Amino acid sequence: MKKDSFVESTRNLKKAVPLMIKHKVPTTPTNYALWYTYVSDNLPELNAQMDKTLKEHGTCGPNHCETLYRDHLADHHERDFSQLRRSFQALAQEMGSTMTDTIKDTSNFQETLEETFTQLARVEEEGLSIEETMALVKNMVKESRGIRSSTLHFKSQLKDAQEEITRLREELNSSQQDALHDGLTGILNRRAFDTELANFAAHHDIKNGFCLCMADLDHFKSFNDNYGHWLGDQVLKMVAQRLESSCRDGMMAFRYGGEEFAILIPGKKLGTACRIADSIRSAVSKLSIRDRRKGTTVDKMTLSIGVAEFNPGEPVDSLIDRADKQLYEAKKLGRNRVMPLS
Ligand code: GH3
Ligand code: MG
Ligand code: MG
Repeated sequence: MKKDSFVESTRNLKKAVPLMIKHKVPTTPTNYALWYTYVSDNLPELNAQMDKTLKEHGTCGPNHCETLYRDHLADHHERDFSQLRRSFQALAQEMGSTMTDTIKDTSNFQETLEETFTQLARVEEEGLSIEETMALVKNMVKESRGIRSSTLHFKSQLKDAQEEITRLREELNSSQQDALHDGLTGILNRRAFDTELANFAAHHDIKNGFCLCMADLDHFKSFNDNYGHWLGDQVLKMVAQRLESSCRDGMMAFRYGGEEFAILIPGKKLGTACRIADSIRSAVSKLSIRDRRKGTTVDKMTLSIGVAEFNPGEPVDSLIDRADKQLYEAKKLGRNRVMPLS
């Protein structure tokens, strides 16, 4: 066969296979020959008939195919056969190398290809019948369909992965933009606390001082150990929300880190601040903690709080230190309490 016609027939074969797949045409030898001839555009009458059928029915059903085959092809079939086989061989080779490049999961297909090559060699050596060769073609088309759906699946997975990456990137962006809120609880974070505390300290005056509360969940490690980290996280969220909703008159609540929170209370003396802190402690101890996954209510969660009043002129670290010392006292005295006693 001349190189030109070889190239052309390969091209036709490449067009025929997807068309057959598209129109869900059964891959019988008859249909294969029919569609091959159709795309090669050698028989204008066949093409006109086929186009008409496709236009009217959206596909070419078995009866139509058979009629078209009988009317236009039956006589030519033997003549086209060797050309068809060669085209098929070339296509198989090309499909094989393209597929290997594009998707990994082609081992079955590769095996089919190997097998097909071996069989095709037999066509040459043993002169396989047209039925036998067509059976090879049929199998090949079936496999290529499988590959096609696996490629589609692969593409959709790739699309999902890309969407996921976009979503994560957006989430990352917004979390970077929102550098002042804690990711888990949504309340102000340690960075916001540092800024606000410096602000409070810089803008205090003798008449209008402020207090700092350092609050720490009691026995939270055991809680995590007993009920799991997931429920521990839910508790942190609940407590944080409760602290935040307790804030009035310029008070601010922060997640200081881990299971520790800080509260700034402007315009109050130590005694008043301690009473406010105690009402917060009491509210937290009344939270009903439900494990929604198990439908059970678990232990109460309590909070120990240390309070200190800002001394004008002192470094903020020293204020934090004094509040921490009171917190330590509260823990030492049995937890679930506020220190100093007011
Ligand atoms: P204490 O009453 O003395 O404060 O005891 P504690 O167990 O609360 O204190 P400790 O410092 O020993 O343990 C703190 C625990 O808080 C340990 C850590 O796993 C847990 N924790 C810190 N951050 C998180 C978080 O984001 N989620 C969860 N679930 N646990 C956290
Ligand atoms: Mg702690
Ligand atoms: Mg603790």
